[in-house]
Amino acid sequence: MFGKKYYINTETLRYERVKLTRKQLYRYLGFFSFGLICLAILMRLGFERFYPTPKQIIYQQENVKLQSEYAALNVELQAVESYLADLRNRDDRFYRAILSLDPVAATIRGAGTGGALRDQHLRNLREPGMVLGVSERIDKITNKVKIQSSSLNDVLEEALTNQEFLACRPSINPISPADPFWLTSTYGYRNDPFTGKRTAHHGIDLAGPVGLDIHCSGAGKVVLAQMNRHGYGKEVVVDHGFGYTSRYAHLHDINVKKGQKVKRGEVLGTLGSTGRSTGPHLHYEIRKDDRAVNPFYFFFENLSSEEYTLLASRATNPEEAYQPLALSQK
Ligand SMILES: [Zn+2]
Repeated sequence: MFGKKYYINTETLRYERVKLTRKQLYRYLGFFSFGLICLAILMRLGFERFYPTPKQIIYQQENVKLQSEYAALNVELQAVESYLADLRNRDDRFYRAILSLDPVAATIRGAGTGGALRDQHLRNLREPGMVLGVSERIDKITNKVKIQSSSLNDVLEEALTNQEFLACRPSINPISPADPFWLTSTYGYRNDPFTGKRTAHHGIDLAGPVGLDIHCSGAGKVVLAQMNRHGYGKEVVVDHGFGYTSRYAHLHDINVKKGQKVKRGEVLGTLGSTGRSTGPHLHYEIRKDDRAVNPFYFFFENLSSEEYTLLASRATNPEEAYQPLALSQK
């Protein structure tokens, strides 16, 4: 189009060269430049496609690496979810069940996660699916961990309350199995050894030689350590809290004072025959909310002689406040 053009001049009858006007010249130059620019762009795109720059090569490699890292992350998240599910099961079916706590409601465990704003930000990525999937999973796991943590706090609180209860509740025989003793009277109605009349016996009688150690059956505080004028003779009464008290009567000696804190296994006094007694024996009585209950229901710990001796020796050690609990878990 830019070749030389000629025309026949009808006056001179000769070929003469066509001269372009300035306007035509600019138009041709415009078309030419536009064509050149388009060509350059196309060449550049084609070149990049088949011959990427070093920077592009690095980006492509990083992209492949990232994709494989995200895949690995997904596998790890799956493992975390499975550990968490196991923990949730044990929490509901074991820890909470033991402590009589209801399982955490399914609606609370599956509560929403939020994070909508960040999700919106991620959705603007070129390939949001991969990142969004991992992000949502992490959100759910975080939420489940928070709920699990709060549930375990409840369990801990309940267990601590129970720990105190287990340490205090009367649960051992006041006479060691290593010592000689025998049961002479059970709980309930019996013929009174003095009057012969049928009367209620509010405890059990354990006979043995005078001077046997009498041990406290659960941690608590001595509320009476006195000579009882109404037949119990020398007696010790311990308040264990939670509504429980225990009475140790007809003692020969009293080793503790009113107001003193005592532990399970601690020696309160010795077996005797003081008060209204027909022979050396211990009258052992337990009350719950001030009503007598059968002490036989409070011999939870079937301790061997060695265990009993260990418990009694530990009871006098101020550093061993909760050792009796360790034994009670056997
Ligand atoms: Zn009695």
